[in-house]
Amino acid sequence: MVHHRRGRGRLCPCLRARDGGASRPAQLTAAFSAPACIGDTGWVNQAADSLSLRRAARVFFDFGSPRIIVAVLAAAIAGRVAIGGWSWWDLLGPAVVLAAQPFTEWLIHVFVLHFRPRTVGRVRVDPLVARKHRAHHADPRELSLVFIPLPALAGLVAGVAAICLAGLPLERGLTTLVTALMVLCTYEWTHYLIHSNYRPRRALFRYVWRAHRNHHFRNEHYWFGVTVHVADHLLGTFPERGDVPVSPTAKTLGVRQAA
Ligand SMILES: [Zn+2]
Ligand SMILES: [Zn+2]
Ligand SMILES: [Zn+2]
Repeated sequence: MVHHRRGRGRLCPCLRARDGGASRPAQLTAAFSAPACIGDTGWVNQAADSLSLRRAARVFFDFGSPRIIVAVLAAAIAGRVAIGGWSWWDLLGPAVVLAAQPFTEWLIHVFVLHFRPRTVGRVRVDPLVARKHRAHHADPRELSLVFIPLPALAGLVAGVAAICLAGLPLERGLTTLVTALMVLCTYEWTHYLIHSNYRPRRALFRYVWRAHRNHHFRNEHYWFGVTVHVADHLLGTFPERGDVPVSPTAKTLGVRQAA
């Protein structure tokens, strides 16, 4: 049994628990010290370790990506409110963003995050986000790997803002940008919460939580959605858990570690 690596020399909580039990870390690390190492089938569900949403949110905003998204979102909302000029057309951009989101998540996860490194001529193509996503699969409990890498986030936010603001009248563009940023924030929050020690209390979150855990611990070729699984259902990547084998490559995505 391979014990889970914790960053900065922290001891795996399952060992800590065996070493007398009482020495649970007191602070935020405790909130995320999921009892791991019971095979590789996933976290053990210990109700006593469940994190409150408020505490989870506080830790969420310790990370750069949520802070940046919320800051840009606040600026976009302020700008949208300041210019006024509301119309029914303001609903169109948000409708498109929301309708596309299941497929946006699915396509990015399948074709970008799970991109297999390849050599084109003499150039090795292995994008940062794909490398970081493999690191996330290798160590799903490492929270710093849960979030969109900052260079990718910067490019994504700038790209979406450019499309919205250059492609639409300013009012509609800002409304659409606000929606896209809210969707992005929801994605980061949901993915983070799934990987935190928060335990689902309601059916909807339990559903996405189970599905993403299946992606990490059952078979990485299924369950590509994070906040929504419409695309998984339509495209045949939402099987019954028992109908697909436990994948030996769920932690590596089948890519050998580069030296
Ligand atoms: Zn362990
Ligand atoms: Zn994940
Ligand atoms: Zn993945």
